[in-house]
Amino acid sequence: MSSVTYGQCLLYRGSDVQSGLEGGHEAGGLGNDPRELPRPKRSAFNISKYNSTSIVNKLLGEHDMIGHLAHQKDSETHLQCLNCSEVDTMADCGVCLDPLQGAGIFSCLMCGNNTCWPCSLQVDKCPFCRAALLPDFRVRNLGMERLLAKLALPCKNYRWGCNRRLVESERSSHEEECSFSPVTCPLHLCKWHGENEHFVEHMKQSHSISLLVGNGITIEISKFRTKTILSDKKTRKYIVSLFCHSAIFTCKVFLHKKKLRMVFLKVCSAESYSKKHFGAWLEISSSFRTLKGIMPIAQCSQNVKELDISCQSLVSPWKKSEEQVKITITIRPLS
Ligand SMILES: [Zn+2]
Ligand SMILES: [Zn+2]
Ligand SMILES: [Zn+2]
Ligand SMILES: [Zn+2]
Ligand SMILES: [Zn+2]
Repeated sequence: MSSVTYGQCLLYRGSDVQSGLEGGHEAGGLGNDPRELPRPKRSAFNISKYNSTSIVNKLLGEHDMIGHLAHQKDSETHLQCLNCSEVDTMADCGVCLDPLQGAGIFSCLMCGNNTCWPCSLQVDKCPFCRAALLPDFRVRNLGMERLLAKLALPCKNYRWGCNRRLVESERSSHEEECSFSPVTCPLHLCKWHGENEHFVEHMKQSHSISLLVGNGITIEISKFRTKTILSDKKTRKYIVSLFCHSAIFTCKVFLHKKKLRMVFLKVCSAESYSKKHFGAWLEISSSFRTLKGIMPIAQCSQNVKELDISCQSLVSPWKKSEEQVKITITIRPLS
């Protein structure tokens, strides 16, 4: 194997780049350890589509100019570095395949292999050597935890397409709001769980609910003056369900007894109840006036607050012409 050493990165030249990576642990010698469980290949990243000479050229340029850390943002570039791609294949839990970062690392006292700490609590035998895991003998591998804490490892949603890389200190806050997180259907008694992109379809098929994907919507009410007068007798409703931040937000706007009433709700079940709070950023505008504000969004139909705006405040008292009212709603996490 011909190789070139460059800074901290050892680069294999020519076709070796490909065979080295394809072989995974085999090439590095570690794969011969019979205690090592076979690991499924990551499908999200496919290194073989790159031509090997361009990898070397690109890496030389990259490490030369911006150094080793420069490629941590872009997973595809990142994986063109042999060291980085090897770390990726070894730094995930062999049981749940999540990155071994942030949750603690369990180390088997008998065979020395690692899983994430939560996985080790699910089993009473080591998944590698089958040794009994007595509670007193569960140890954490603090050395490896410290090492991996500083490396930029993939978001746990890499399987669903997220290509963010995270060090331990940023992991939990990103993963909490990662838009690639699989979702659990929040509707009562429904056990559906799956990818974001299939969720909208599920809601339509199983619950006949149409969701708009996105964190905002603009509702336009034309002939507002006439509709205001009619609202004494007839309530008009504008209801939309938005799917964003891995949750469903129902926005209801009523035109009722000369009032514009707005209600926002995050749809959730007891299981999907979260401590994270969201707000609706509102902008209500007519040619006469623009109102702006932020309204907190309730969860699980508890403490639902209503916002009432008098219709008169949106139309000019001096003009008699028709008015168009535009309501812009944007859902964001409240910090
Ligand atoms: Zn590198
Ligand atoms: Zn695990
Ligand atoms: Zn073991
Ligand atoms: Zn992510
Ligand atoms: Zn469902």
